[in-house]
Amino acid sequence: MVTSSQLIELIKEYDPDVNEDLLRRAYIFSMEAHGTQKRESGAPYFSHPVGVAIILIEMKMDVATIVTGLLHDVLEDTDVSVEQLTECFGTEIVSLVEGVTKLNKVKYVSKKEHQAENFRKFLLAISQDIRVLLVKLADRLHNMRTLNHVASIEKRKRIALESLDIYAPLADRIGMQNIKDEIEDISFFMLYPQEYGSIIARLESIKRNNVNFVENTIADFKDLFEKRMLNVKIYGREKKPYSIWQKMYKRNIPLEQINDIIAFRIIVNTVEDCYKALGIIHTSFPIIPGRFKDYISIPKFNNYRSLHTTVVGSRQQRIEIQIRTNEMHEIADVGYASHWSYKSGEIGEAKGMREYQWIKNLLSVAENSSNPEEVMEHSKMEMFENEVFCFTPNGDLIIMPRGTTAIDFAYAIHTSVGNTCIGARINGTVMALKTKLHNGDQVEVLTSPFQRPEAEWNEIVVTGKARSCIKKFIRSQERAEFITLGMLLARYVFESSGVEFSEENIQYTNYECDSLENFYYNLARDEISIEKFHEEISKSGSVTYNNPTLCILSLIPGVAVHYSQCCHPMQDDKVIGVITKSKGLTIHTTTCDTIGSDDIGKLIALRWNDDADQDKSFIARLRVVLINKTGSLAILSSTISNHGADIANLKIEHRSIDFADIIVDIHVNDIKHLNEIQASLRTNSIVKNVRRL
Ligand code: MN
Repeated sequence: MVTSSQLIELIKEYDPDVNEDLLRRAYIFSMEAHGTQKRESGAPYFSHPVGVAIILIEMKMDVATIVTGLLHDVLEDTDVSVEQLTECFGTEIVSLVEGVTKLNKVKYVSKKEHQAENFRKFLLAISQDIRVLLVKLADRLHNMRTLNHVASIEKRKRIALESLDIYAPLADRIGMQNIKDEIEDISFFMLYPQEYGSIIARLESIKRNNVNFVENTIADFKDLFEKRMLNVKIYGREKKPYSIWQKMYKRNIPLEQINDIIAFRIIVNTVEDCYKALGIIHTSFPIIPGRFKDYISIPKFNNYRSLHTTVVGSRQQRIEIQIRTNEMHEIADVGYASHWSYKSGEIGEAKGMREYQWIKNLLSVAENSSNPEEVMEHSKMEMFENEVFCFTPNGDLIIMPRGTTAIDFAYAIHTSVGNTCIGARINGTVMALKTKLHNGDQVEVLTSPFQRPEAEWNEIVVTGKARSCIKKFIRSQERAEFITLGMLLARYVFESSGVEFSEENIQYTNYECDSLENFYYNLARDEISIEKFHEEISKSGSVTYNNPTLCILSLIPGVAVHYSQCCHPMQDDKVIGVITKSKGLTIHTTTCDTIGSDDIGKLIALRWNDDADQDKSFIARLRVVLINKTGSLAILSSTISNHGADIANLKIEHRSIDFADIIVDIHVNDIKHLNEIQASLRTNSIVKNVRRL
């Protein structure tokens, strides 16, 4: 096994000031912690963290990242505690190791394409520090290299699929071409061994038939550039089986037609030389149209930069060429994240980064610093900081804005789920609807057919969808209540005209309504004049004039029916209703000054009860919204009885996880008495709202 001294020698090649003591301590700590543990291959487990450390050294990582590589499995797989690790290595390294441990716990279930993309974003979001992600990629790469030692075929395939769906694209996204290629090829081999085999065979046969192709082509180019005095390095690079397979798949090309398996790379010193080299090639060989790409002017999303072209060579063979500078070359292979040792101005001026802004930030610091430790202090990822990633019970990932509650989540699943949600089981524990969600939460929404959206929800939710659904529902409820009131008013009009009530006799089209429901709705809102309607119905009325009254108990106060705030009618007061524009019916005492002569045609005679004779004491009805917790009801009843009032009736109208909506009838002496009780209730912290009905 590679010793700690050998690791240090490797690091010194790019970082002469490496903290040797730290690295040696981590090496010994990990070796002792893993002890006699074995990998499936029978090799000591410790060979794995060392392997990961070597990959990180190849990526030219700082010492904290390499140490994290050595320690990445000790929290998960050994008895070492967070406290012990902190004591030995400090908080920075512990938070990195914890970050990797957290990533290991996330299980990916293969789903549709967009789920894989969401999952990759989720990993980026919970990584927080780019080094966590880099250690995870190195960990995965080392596991892939030793995957053939895993006995279970199912397990191998699962790991390969996850690597192909998640980790290869992540490596690509942060520009680590080499890691991406290797992960892809191993996954490809595990998942599609036959296809892999036939591509390898084809590659071998092409090579046998073109023994000197690479050497000859390189010699041709060297000649050409020497004559034009341009200093270049040229390499031939064989394409990877997975990328060939993808090309066959995407462009529908049969294997026999795959010929250009070598891409040539021309490495020059400056950007100017890139274009010079391109000019020389394009004037010396026929160009294949449509294949020229300028990724220097417009870099790829992961900031890959090169010129690409394809020409027909002197042996009538297609030659694929990539032209780039040394820096571009290094970045393309090992990635930006590891590129802190370069200080070239070109790199910082990256375009098209948008959500990968952190790479740019990392680099701009890198430009001003030669010290890797200093650079890595700025490695905190700020991607997706405005989003939280939550899972449904069957593993679907839903991206929500930060501050999201369980109600928002319920509406994100479906409007009907939102409209009937009563609570949520978050990571297995039943929580209130207003609970804010966090990254990685698994959320199961609990629903009840008796639930309906409450106006209070609008103050809790953060998503537009939830808000508009709640508003829409409440508006539809309002409409239903106006329609009910309109129907009662229509009956009242018929009765007072001495005509038997019949819906067929309502000529709603005469009132510009397209349905009876609309007619009722507009009548209750005073959009249709109740006076005119009265006149209309009276025409067919009998001579006997009725004097009906509308029973208050059949009206639901709150939306379409209101008690007036000017005269505060009490039970058994003589009352009268007034129809008001958009508001519906307002109940006043018959002696109220606010009723004027204009209202005469809009007055509705009211009565309290169907029973003529009732208890003589006043009963006031209150609607109280309580915080739903143990003892709330006891506090409510003791507050009322402390004021010398009795509860005549109490009904829990509705109870959600957060609130209980209670209708309570109390015996009071007078308005003053009632107001005192209301005031006292309002000052209590368990009371959300008190309203006189
Ligand atoms: Mn590991």
